[in-house]
Amino acid sequence: GSLPLALGIDLGTSGVRIAIVNRNKDLIYTSSVNYENNLEDYHDWINSCEKLIREIPKSFKSNLVACSVDGTSGTIIACDFQGDPISKAVPYHSNCIDETKGILKLSTIKNSSLERYSSIRKALYLTNKYGCDILLRHQADWITGWLLNNWDLGEEGNNIKLGWNLLSKTWLKDVQNLEWRNCLPKIISSGNLFGTVSSSISKRLDLPRNLKVFAGTTDSNAAVLAVNPSSTDGVTVLGSTLVIKRFVNGPIRSHGITNHLVGGQWLSGGASNTGAAVLRRFFSDEDLIELSRQINPEIDSGLKLMPLMIKGERFPVNDPDLEPILGPRPTSDSLYLHGLLESIARIEAQGWNKFEKLGIKAPQRIITIGGGARNPQWRRIRERIIGIPILSSKKQPAEGVALLAMQSIHKSL
Ligand code: ADP
Repeated sequence: GSLPLALGIDLGTSGVRIAIVNRNKDLIYTSSVNYENNLEDYHDWINSCEKLIREIPKSFKSNLVACSVDGTSGTIIACDFQGDPISKAVPYHSNCIDETKGILKLSTIKNSSLERYSSIRKALYLTNKYGCDILLRHQADWITGWLLNNWDLGEEGNNIKLGWNLLSKTWLKDVQNLEWRNCLPKIISSGNLFGTVSSSISKRLDLPRNLKVFAGTTDSNAAVLAVNPSSTDGVTVLGSTLVIKRFVNGPIRSHGITNHLVGGQWLSGGASNTGAAVLRRFFSDEDLIELSRQINPEIDSGLKLMPLMIKGERFPVNDPDLEPILGPRPTSDSLYLHGLLESIARIEAQGWNKFEKLGIKAPQRIITIGGGARNPQWRRIRERIIGIPILSSKKQPAEGVALLAMQSIHKSL
């Protein structure tokens, strides 16, 4: 076989998946397990990782040379200086609404994308509760610490939500001035070396003693890496929300666009508030399959909808007052679904146009991942409306972060 091998560990919302790739970038092993309790329970994180690592066949395990971790972006845990958690984790979707007052005192964070659902509210909540002699670590960083028996470090992309600035490579001023700045990790760039697996973990899980651990990325970036897009490919994530992503030469500065560094490459993304969540409001996943079969994707439904869950859009247009239009609903459910799928496709088309206006050439091909990628009729509707060939992918983030580990060890040699 093609040795050596790299391991990727993906900590998701409902469980953990691991993947192993060889140096030809082939996936040679993958396995997953659901959390017994939930995302907040760090015992679940460890137990899931231990179980999956123990079960890796010996012939693969002994050839592992590199490992990287990705986790749900914005899930954070408070621990002591030895890494022992002080509480349950605060999951990414928690909005810590009681911390609004604290946020309003932070002038550079107030009214920025960091205000809601960022890790800053969660950090305020945790430091108010447990004081400032603690470490604040995101899920991927905490598990990486567990592999190394050292919780000092954090990966750059996972820490944007805590106020890390990728361009200046410093913490935002407001964050630097806070009394909890010592709770923050020392930042390592995605793809750079975190360290070598600890001797106790190596013994207990029978991992090679010199297994190198490289800084990983967030779960959504890992999903993009998994499809291994070329420079002319675009990636659309059709999950609860619609996100379009593209590797670019440098960060794009425009409202609603986020920039990440993944393994040294800039990845820009535009996230709309629309997406497949609005479909779930009206239809079960089973209904979606059945009703989609009744759609002829080559013709237009004639419906004009604005498929937002609530008022307000951030990308491709920035309009906090944009109203959802979800009716009039025709009597035919499949016609209604047809209209919804088309209206989301039109927003995606506008998104790619917006990227073009910002100087990013239109992709020659779009690769789609996420729950919506399972729908062949939607794929065809999107091709018709966007005018670019579309490929659906079932690749998982674990494979992406394994590829990142493989790329990182090559660069480090
Ligand atoms: P996330 O991780 O963002 O919550 P997923 O990638 O798991 O989302 O995708 C879940 C979404 O996929 C749901 O909103 C659901 O409506 C949508 N979905 C599931 N099956 C289909 C289908 N056959 N066609 C279109 N959308 C689907």
